[in-house]
Amino acid sequence: MNRSKNTLLTRREFVATSLAGATALTACASPPPKKLMLIRYDAESRQKEEIAGFFEKMVSVHRALEIPASFFCMGAAMEMRETEFRSFFNEVKDDPLFDIQDHSYSHVGLGYDRGISVDELRADFDRSFDVHERLRGSRPIGVTMAGTGSRDGEPLSGFDATEKSRAELDMLAGLGVRMINTFHSNVDSSKAFINYRDLGHSEVMGFPSGYGDNGWLRGRKFGDPEEFILSQIKERGERGEHIPVMLHDDTEWIDVDDKELKWVSLIADAGRKAGFELVTHQECYRRKSLWADFDMAQHKPS
Ligand SMILES: [Zn+2]
Repeated sequence: MNRSKNTLLTRREFVATSLAGATALTACASPPPKKLMLIRYDAESRQKEEIAGFFEKMVSVHRALEIPASFFCMGAAMEMRETEFRSFFNEVKDDPLFDIQDHSYSHVGLGYDRGISVDELRADFDRSFDVHERLRGSRPIGVTMAGTGSRDGEPLSGFDATEKSRAELDMLAGLGVRMINTFHSNVDSSKAFINYRDLGHSEVMGFPSGYGDNGWLRGRKFGDPEEFILSQIKERGERGEHIPVMLHDDTEWIDVDDKELKWVSLIADAGRKAGFELVTHQECYRRKSLWADFDMAQHKPS
């Protein structure tokens, strides 16, 4: 008689049993945190005439469909469209669907190989934060990084890359910034929430950033835009990964002429169907367990 066949589990049976056990354990523990969809707009258009009407339509669409979003507003754009920004800020000031943050005064680049000095960067952000204070009575705690084309050389791999980029992070934290893109050599910037404890800033959250509309939508870099974005949302949903979506006021309203804002509606709808919870960046910052426990030393790059 073949004893082993009767008394020992085959490998296939062993794996099946282990998986069942693991599933049972998971069911007993608290449910895993829901995967998140972060929709943001970098609001930077200085085309005063062409962009007219954007805020009114956007607020009505986001409210009707209950789509939370963060708005990273550029100082120079806020000054050029002051009346429009003022009434937008006033309209949404008590509405948690709308999270208002910053995108520098003049689209300066953080984390570049060359680039302007840390003092010049500080002056530019400080100037933009002053505009926030003047128009809406408070300063932002979040910024998104801006691309500068080839002006400042190649982007670095993270704030950890050079002395200057470390000093840039110190400078931002000194201005009160508590949320910025995940920008670290060892981490996928489009997927992970991190903190910057290893660079001396455990109080600063890094948030995932990606799927910019200038690439997949305006530039059609990945083929049909609708097919592309829907497949990405579905795949990330299936893998249990968060998904960031970066829109621009001018790209949506002017460049692709989406006066109904059908793209943001489509993205939000697909996100909900794929099981994502839609959140603002500020809401992520409030959920400290999402980022404060991240340990760079334990992190294995994917
Ligand atoms: Zn920008």
